[in-house]
Amino acid sequence: MADARQFDVVIVGAGIAGSALAVALSGHGLMIALVEAQALPASALPQSKNLQDFDPRVSALTPRSREFLSQLGAWDAIAAYRHCAYRHMTVWDAEGTGQIEFDRAEVGASELGHIVENRAIVHALLARVATAADITVLSPVALASCTRLASSRMSLTLDGGELLEADLLVAADGALSRVREMMSFRSREWDYGHRAIVATVEVERPHDATAWQRFLPSGPLALLPLPGENGHHYCSIVWSLQEDLVDAVLALDDAAFCAELTRASEARLGAVLDASRRFAHPLRQRHAVDYVQPGVALVADAAHTIHPLAGQGINLGLQDVAVLAAEILAGQRNGVHPGSWTCCSVISGSARART
Ligand SMILES: Cc1cc2nc3c(=O)[nH]c(=O)nc-3n(C[C@H](O)[C@H](O)[C@H](O)COP(=O)(O)OP(=O)(O)OC[C@H]3O[C@@H](n4cnc5c(N)ncnc54)[C@H](O)[C@@H]3O)c2cc1C
Repeated sequence: MADARQFDVVIVGAGIAGSALAVALSGHGLMIALVEAQALPASALPQSKNLQDFDPRVSALTPRSREFLSQLGAWDAIAAYRHCAYRHMTVWDAEGTGQIEFDRAEVGASELGHIVENRAIVHALLARVATAADITVLSPVALASCTRLASSRMSLTLDGGELLEADLLVAADGALSRVREMMSFRSREWDYGHRAIVATVEVERPHDATAWQRFLPSGPLALLPLPGENGHHYCSIVWSLQEDLVDAVLALDDAAFCAELTRASEARLGAVLDASRRFAHPLRQRHAVDYVQPGVALVADAAHTIHPLAGQGINLGLQDVAVLAAEILAGQRNGVHPGSWTCCSVISGSARART
């Protein structure tokens, strides 16, 4: 059998969280591997503002997430591509009894946050990864199994049989984390009984840099502002619908879907004129009881998933990454290896505090 390749940290999953962690750890004398099951995204992002060309998955990033991405050297590339600052938020209830507004002026900020396509964030982070000599990217190849050795180091087998060893294995492999399952982390979870339909839509009226959210009896609908051009106004929608309604909505043709969405949004942005392909994501609340074991840490969706109406999933995930990176690097400065329990105790404590 071939010898195992040796690393200090192996990160499984090169989504936003895994890529951010690799960049955060780079440049500090650690040998890092980033393992990704899918082929890495194409080197160029689509430039046209065609409905079908927007990533249907977007994130509302908080100023804190933006600041972290700046520290990682990724924000400038995101901003140079495209994003939409939102300065106001209007949330109202379908019964017509309540409405709440949030404005940047209340917090003395230039914006409340930014709507960014997920693939633009990953793209910018992977561009940083590509320049780092201490990060080995293994892609497309999935983690097949992992186990803790008598030495306390983690042993990983990739599909195809390649072996890796590391002090620390980080699961950034998303909501259905195989690492979480293979290492028997317990999690508390339940189904929301909803799926979220996501798509990019063109609306009749300007969105006014506002995030719009309407609470309907069947679930919340969000229209998130995207950059437009030449008098065209675009939004990304996240429409959380109770399970028994989803298939019927997905089966609607474009015109019927737009009409349904115009009704659901009370035409606050005028008529919905056009819609991209629709995708539906099952929504499940999950929270790992512990985020760490000796030699293993869970971050972002591998550790917790929440309903997207909060717009907080990856914002929390990036905080996991920031805290874990700070702990690992503090340990590194003090001669403590990355997989040691001492190194991870702060994260463990904060996970328990949130449970
Ligand atoms: C509809 C919707 C709207 C949302 N809106 C927001 C929002 O506005 N703001 C916000 O903060 N959050 C939002 N979220 C949450 C946010 O999208 C997630 O928190 C975030 O994408 C999770 O990133 P991640 O890197 O943890 O996982 P993922 O993006 O799931 O990445 C995991 C990676 O691991 C790889 N992988 C999996 N298994 C293996 C394996 N065995 N071997 C190798 N690689 C593997 C996958 O291929 C993938 O690339 C939303 C979520 C949904 C569903």
